[in-house]
Parts: sequence; structure tokens; C-alpha cells
Amino acid sequence: VRISIFNDNRLGIVNSDRIHDVTSVLDALPARRYPLPRHDLLIEALPELRARLEQVARETPGIPLSEARLLSPIANPGKIVAAPVNYRKHLEEAIAEPETFSAAHVRRIQETGLFLKATSSLIGPSQAVRIRQSERRTDHEVELAVVIGRVCDRVAPFDALSYVAGYTIGLDITVRGPEERSMRKSIDTYTVLGPWIVTADEIGDPANLELAINVNDEPRQRANTRDLILGIPELIAFASSYYTLFPGDILLTGTPEGVGPIRAGDNMHADIERIGSMSVSVAD
Ligand code: MN
Repeated sequence: VRISIFNDNRLGIVNSDRIHDVTSVLDALPARRYPLPRHDLLIEALPELRARLEQVARETPGIPLSEARLLSPIANPGKIVAAPVNYRKHLEEAIAEPETFSAAHVRRIQETGLFLKATSSLIGPSQAVRIRQSERRTDHEVELAVVIGRVCDRVAPFDALSYVAGYTIGLDITVRGPEERSMRKSIDTYTVLGPWIVTADEIGDPANLELAINVNDEPRQRANTRDLILGIPELIAFASSYYTLFPGDILLTGTPEGVGPIRAGDNMHADIERIGSMSVSVAD
């Protein structure tokens, strides 16, 4: 099933080219008082709510997908975990261009470890990436994004995929330079998720998905998740060996070769096999 959040924070189920408003199902979520939990309540409840979501979707006529303003399909991720340089050819291009990729940041992922992006950087495809630090080089990075479905603490790779709720497309927008990744990649609007979550049962093995991004119709990145250095199960195991992952936590799995600059006025079009595609504009 394809789950989206659209317009005025409506919850939607996407079927081919229509989106069905299933917001009423959220009434089943437990009422919470302050302090609110730090994980995503909808993703946590998804196993119990799924049949109801699909039923309500069948009973409502829906609107054309093209008329919906798509927001981030995860409303409240507790954390956004991301993998640095996790495709071999991207590592090679980073080594070859030290004036763009600071040498201090270009090491094997097993040595660098993972980093975190601020949740305040998160937007959906209908909300433009807004360039700050416009005198600096700012790049697109298309990545497969994993949505964690249940509490995940020190899991082994063989078991890791059973903790995944679903997958979506991630854009890890990045200012190049010497600062810590968490600063350069946490600017408002610099994390895009969309167009929807595809539940894990519809993806099967995430280790063979084509991913691509065009900027103004020019092909920039084109790769397959089979070329990840640390695959999805290994990334989940690695992350959960340091911190517990909670429902709705996001894991950006790393970007392949072909990263390049974006500027105000550009349009990015990203797609990942079996998930879908999204267009995201770039503004001042
Ligand atoms: Mn990245």
C-alpha cells in the first residue's frame, strides 16, 4: 500500500492515479498528553491500522493525484539517520575532486560512521527546496530512504529487514564544504521525502532497485541499490548498534555517483523503481 500525507495534513492512500482521503482512520490513534513521544505514532500503529486504511480507501472516491499537494509522508520522524559515501563510484568521484569534497569527509563508511540530519529540515515534494548560503555549492543527492517500523535495538543483518515499515525516495540536499555534515545538510528544506511510503511487502528485496534523478531534464544520477557498499540490512544493524531506532525513524542509505549543483529555478525529478517518482522545485 502507498501512504501519503497531502494538502492540509490529510492522510491518503494512493491507488494508481488517485489519492483517497483516509484521515478519519487517525481517530484510532491513542490520545497523547504532553510530553509527546519522540517517534511517529502513525507508523507505530500501521500494522493494526492497515486493513482499516485499505478499507476506507476503497469506500472513498478519491481525487486525482495531480491535484494533491504532497507533503513528507512521515510527519514526525524522531531522527533522520544518513549514510555518508556509500556507493563505490561516489567515493571515487569524491576522492578525485578534493576542491569540492573535503578530504576530511571522504573515508570509508565503516570508519566515518553515520550522521544525523535535523528533523526540521524535512519537507515533501510540493514544498520547494529553498537555497541558503547561495554563494556556496549546493548539491542534489538522491537516495533510497528506509522507514523503520518498530523498535529496533542491536539487530543482526539477517533480521534487520523485518524492522522496516516501508520505503520512500529521499533527497539529501547538501552544501559542500569543510563543516560537519550535520550542519551542511540540516538547513531548512534540505531533506525531501516523497512522494509516498510504499510498504515493505510491495518492495520485497530492496537490494535491486534502480534510482535516478534528472535536473531540468538532464540526467544526473542513475544507479542501482545493488551497488551500495553497506546494504540496507547492514546499515540498519550498524545504526542500531549505536542507538535504538524507533517507528518512523528514517534511514537515508547514501547517494551514488553523479552528484551536482542545483540553483534557484531548477526542477529536480527523482524516481526509484517500485516506489514512484517526484518533482521538486528549487527556489531562493
Ligand atoms: Mn547523502
